[in-house]
Amino acid sequence: MAIVPCMANREKADSAEALRFAGLPAALLDWYARHARTLPWRIGPGERARGVVPDPYRVWLAEIMLQQTTVPHAAAYFDKFTRTWPSVEALAGAEDSDVMAAWAGLGYYARARNLLKCAREVTARGEWPRTEAGLRELPGVGPYTAGAVAALAFGEPAAAVDGNVDRVFARLLAAKGDWKDEKRRIAETVRALVPADRPGEFAEALMDLGATVCTPKRPNCLICPVHEWCMGRAEGVPEQYPIKPAKKAKPVRFGEVYIIWREDEVAVERRPSSGLLGGMLGLPTTDWREGGVPDRADWAMVDATSIGGVKHVFTHFELRLDVLVIESPSELPTGIEFQSAGDVAAALPTVFRKALKLAS
Ligand code: SF4
Repeated sequence: MAIVPCMANREKADSAEALRFAGLPAALLDWYARHARTLPWRIGPGERARGVVPDPYRVWLAEIMLQQTTVPHAAAYFDKFTRTWPSVEALAGAEDSDVMAAWAGLGYYARARNLLKCAREVTARGEWPRTEAGLRELPGVGPYTAGAVAALAFGEPAAAVDGNVDRVFARLLAAKGDWKDEKRRIAETVRALVPADRPGEFAEALMDLGATVCTPKRPNCLICPVHEWCMGRAEGVPEQYPIKPAKKAKPVRFGEVYIIWREDEVAVERRPSSGLLGGMLGLPTTDWREGGVPDRADWAMVDATSIGGVKHVFTHFELRLDVLVIESPSELPTGIEFQSAGDVAAALPTVFRKALKLAS
């Protein structure tokens, strides 16, 4: 099948790479037609041409969930969310606490708060924006998600460039320059290659290539449908790409977390709506600070048994919490409630789940 490049995008890009990769989209789409992964939020290859229209709600929800997590992990949450809230309107009408509890374990909880804001905004508007620029105006929708939803759900000639696509193109281009500049060059190259007639399938094909063939540690160049364009492979060591600047060590914050039992119930509190893990249920805890464990609150100045520690890595810091069991506190801070430990665990963010597991 002839592939029609998107000329509007092509004009924007420096076309040197676009011309060099001119045959790549057709080869990639041909491979995708035979090897596409079956995923619950997707339509299959060629289905759009047969009039099947993807549900933007499902596409958007999946893309938000898939940021920073794996397909199998996200798929379970996707199933739970779409059963509970089968449409964007249903999600918009959900209780905040129910959505935050359903999101628990997916991490990056600001995304869950933005998920609700976005659902409510789309519902208030009465429809989804269809373009990349329009989608960017929605809460929590960044450049990658806007490109992905525009291409996958609406067939707009938009590019969806995430870390996987960066890796594939860093190898194709044997990108050795400053990583910021190379990322820009990669984005321009991908944009210029998006086929005007099948942008969604092109985006999905790149995602599948990165997930199944051009994997981070062991790219399988022998079966790669685009190997003839790959400069990294021609050099012999494609896995050395992308060449990124060394990551700085994350700062470490310390704190205490308290397990307070009442028979088989445990004390939990709703965290403030803004800030880290905002709006989620949590276990009572001190502040988390660099340099050492902060002072305990007055109510926690009682006999407490240390049962070990848990470690959790957030985007910007590593957290180390001492876990203490308090048997009979003289008083409790306001906002504490007791919930069944078995039931509440699923609604707790991972760091608190780890602490509760240690105490169970
Ligand atoms: Fe990745 Fe190898 Fe394909 Fe290049 S040839 S894109 S390194 S799998």
